[in-house]
Parts: sequence; structure tokens; C-alpha cells
Amino acid sequence: MNPQPPIPNPTRFRENLLAWYARGHRAMPWREVGRTAYHIWLAEIMLQQTTVTAVIPYYHRFLERFPTLESLATAPIDDVLALWQGLGYYRRAHLLHKCAQTVMAKHSGQFPSTEAELLTLPGLGPYTAAVIAATAFHQPANVVDGNVERVITRLFRIASPLPASKPEIRKAAATLTPPPTQHATHNTHHAEYANAIMELGSQICTPTNPQCFLCPVAEDCQALHARDQLSYPVKTPKKAVPHHTATAWLITDAHNNLYLQQRPSTGLLASLWELPHSGWEPKSPQTQQPPIPLSNSQPAGSYTHTFTHFKLTLNLLRATTDTIPTTNRFPLTSLPPLSTLMQKAIKTALTHQ
Ligand code: SF4
Repeated sequence: MNPQPPIPNPTRFRENLLAWYARGHRAMPWREVGRTAYHIWLAEIMLQQTTVTAVIPYYHRFLERFPTLESLATAPIDDVLALWQGLGYYRRAHLLHKCAQTVMAKHSGQFPSTEAELLTLPGLGPYTAAVIAATAFHQPANVVDGNVERVITRLFRIASPLPASKPEIRKAAATLTPPPTQHATHNTHHAEYANAIMELGSQICTPTNPQCFLCPVAEDCQALHARDQLSYPVKTPKKAVPHHTATAWLITDAHNNLYLQQRPSTGLLASLWELPHSGWEPKSPQTQQPPIPLSNSQPAGSYTHTFTHFKLTLNLLRATTDTIPTTNRFPLTSLPPLSTLMQKAIKTALTHQ
């Protein structure tokens, strides 16, 4: 008979985790000494749906252009979108801008320090509010991202499927989070703990190949004891996403100008510029007519892009024209903010043989 499975011991778990983190961890620019809530918030918004490696150059470019919250809040949204190009999920850029303006207007330019107040700001959900409270303000916040969810479901062998199991996971995670302390010298543990448990999930307790032999909290892991680590987290199977097709026209004139149109200021890829198209969003009006009369459209390849809720194939047509209206005319060498979808579609059509 197997010995009794371990029940994670919070004190031992925290001590082992913090000692491991103190021995070394990945350097990240937003974790450097002297970083403020502004730096941490900026990085965390960028990190939603994006990897650390992809975010680092964007983070540096943003800070160079917007060194302070005020400089970001007062910038035109087009400048923010231009720097965000390629990072995807553009709604984050709009919310980032709105959040900066809200902090300037309602909090005198200083981020509030509690989870509850942070949660009232645009674009901040429970995870982002908790991670800012813990790492910028050393509050005892329960930080649970996707990495932490994986660690917790394995430590406690939580068998109910995500996403319905999120409250259960948060409850289990809260039993391990450092409690509030009276001792000012211990306050930094809240920041270290939050960073350490996320680092454990991303570096050791990985999705398909957890390094249990290197894990500092192996002693407290029920899944390791049962040898079924890869069974967690349990996930509800995803529904197949619908696949749409549409036509997009790449129209140029004799002076290497491109025809672009701007998207509405709300909704998917708001305010970004795009090639004229036949209607590519699932419920958008359809047309087979280009925006100006064309007599020489030629097939120019296709590009497929996957959004969260649907997949899109743009069939590209290339054409030339004598005149492009001034408001739609952009030199190919100096294009306005474009989504990744449009950048790739334009490249595909321009290089099509
Ligand atoms: S022992 Fe293995 S499965 Fe358990 S927390 Fe550590 S890395 Fe994850």
C-alpha cells in the first residue's frame, strides 16, 4: 500500500519556494530594483497573451517613448498603437491608454496600492490587480496566472476541469500565499513569493515536461506522489472555431502609395488601418466590390490568421489605380498602425510571384 499522500504544508512550501527563488531566477527588466508600479503594470498588460521574450523589446521601446505614466496618458492613441504593432490583442493597447488617463485623472498620477482599488482600473482583472499589489506594493495578494494554476492543480490534484475550477484553484492557492505580516522587514516576501510561484510554473512545473527532480516543493506535491502530474490541470475540451474567408484588395498607384482604410474606434482591432476588404469579421456586412473601380485585379496569394474565436483566410487581390483618395493614401515606406493580420497580408500580396 502507498504511504499517505502529502498535504501541502504552507510554511514548508513557502520556505522551500523562496529559498529556491533566492538562489537564482530569470532576470526581467520589470523586476529590477527601482522599478515602480508603472513599470510592473506596463509589463503585465503586455504579458497578457504574450511571452516574456516577445515582450522585452516592446517594453523597452515603450519606456523610451513613454518614460512616465503622464507621457503615456497625454499621448495620442495612434502613437500608442504604432508602438504596439505586432504585439497583437490591440484592445490591450486601448485599455492601457485609458488606464493611464484614469490614474492621472482619479488618482493624481499614482497607482492605488490595494487589489480592490486596482480592480476598478480599465484593463485590470483579478490576476493583474493581484500581481501589481504584491510586487509593486508588497501586499499579501493571491496571484494566480496560468502557470500558477498548473502548479496548484498538481500540488492539490484538483480534478475538476478548467475554467470552472478557477475558484477552487484560487482557494487552494490562497492557503499557500504568505499571510499579512506585522514585520515591515518581511514585507518583501509578498513580492518574492508572487514572482517565485509564477517562475516555478514557467521554468520547472512546465505543461508537458515538469522537472520534478529539480522541484523545490516536490515534498508537498500530491501529483508527484501519485505519479500522475501530466493529468493536471484538467481542461474542458475546446470547441472547434469557425473558419471564415474574405477578399482583401492591395491597391497601389504609380508612386508606390497604398490604399488603406481606418477601422472603427471600437471593436476588434479598433482604430487600426487595413486593406479594403469584402467583410472579414463573422457578422460584418459583405461586399464583393472594391472601394474604387478597378479593372486589373490579379490573385496575389492568401493569408490565414487565427483569432481567439475564429479563423480567417484572406484571399488577396492586387491592383493598380491612377488615383487614391488623399485620406486613404499612404506611402508604402511609411504606413500607419496596422494589425499583425494586415502586416502579413500586405507582405504576402507584395511578394506574391
Ligand atoms: S513536483 Fe513536479 S508536478 Fe509537482 S509541483 Fe513540482 S514540478 Fe510540478
